[in-house]
Amino acid sequence: MTFMTPRIRLLKTPIDALSLEEAVARVQQLVAQGQGGMVCTPDTTALWRAQQDPALRAIYEEADLVTPDGTGVVWASRVLGMALPERVSGIDLLERLFACGRTLRLFLLGAAPGVAEQAALKLAERYPNLRIVGTHHGYFRPEENEQMIALIDQAQPDVVLVGLGVPRQERWMQENRAKLRKSVLMGVGGCFDVWAGRLMRAPVSWRRLGLEWLYRLIQEPKRVARVSTIPLFVLEVWALKLLYLIMGR
Ligand code: UDP
Repeated sequence: MTFMTPRIRLLKTPIDALSLEEAVARVQQLVAQGQGGMVCTPDTTALWRAQQDPALRAIYEEADLVTPDGTGVVWASRVLGMALPERVSGIDLLERLFACGRTLRLFLLGAAPGVAEQAALKLAERYPNLRIVGTHHGYFRPEENEQMIALIDQAQPDVVLVGLGVPRQERWMQENRAKLRKSVLMGVGGCFDVWAGRLMRAPVSWRRLGLEWLYRLIQEPKRVARVSTIPLFVLEVWALKLLYLIMGR
């Protein structure tokens, strides 16, 4: 079965217009095909970065699935008349996938030493269908990469979760996907910190208000530089909207 994904371009970056359920089905399909794949879940700040960084945009173009991991991304799509169905965050997508009950071999790569192991324990408790076939922290040196690939390859994961932060995880997936041809690679940002209990996810009420970024900022003030691009993103979307109105689009 081929999967026709309606793909829009938002501030030049491709995003797939799928619901959460459809995105889960797409990942399941990639896993079933056993021919690898790359999944990216940019939020508003990643979208802003991609606009300035053609190499990051090119990676998103080559991904098999790109989902909008941010209320701001969905908001922008609506303002610009290309409505995405809903927010599809990486963590929601994965938790829904795990809850389907199918056996899934996972490798967790990323976060500070000990975090991926802790996350693996918590995930295995919550989802008995998961087989965590390996973990490694995300602070390895470039010269250790070949060793890392061999470790992952030997473990034969269906899915490699790559939590190295944007854009390092996207670059890593792009550079190594040909060497891990049977695994689906997915960029997961700070998910391991959440599953390990080191970061709290925003309550649903904050998420509904589009304030998940603020909740995370309170826990990690060092993210202030990254978050400061959000007003620029909003301004750019409004400027584009104005342009569309003037041009009668
Ligand atoms: N991280 C990592 N290696 C690095 C840089 C970051 O493993 O060289 C991890 C970091 O410990 C955290 C995750 O990447 O667990 C997400 O980082 P960040 O918050 O910067 O990224 P975002 O979630 O916004 O993509």
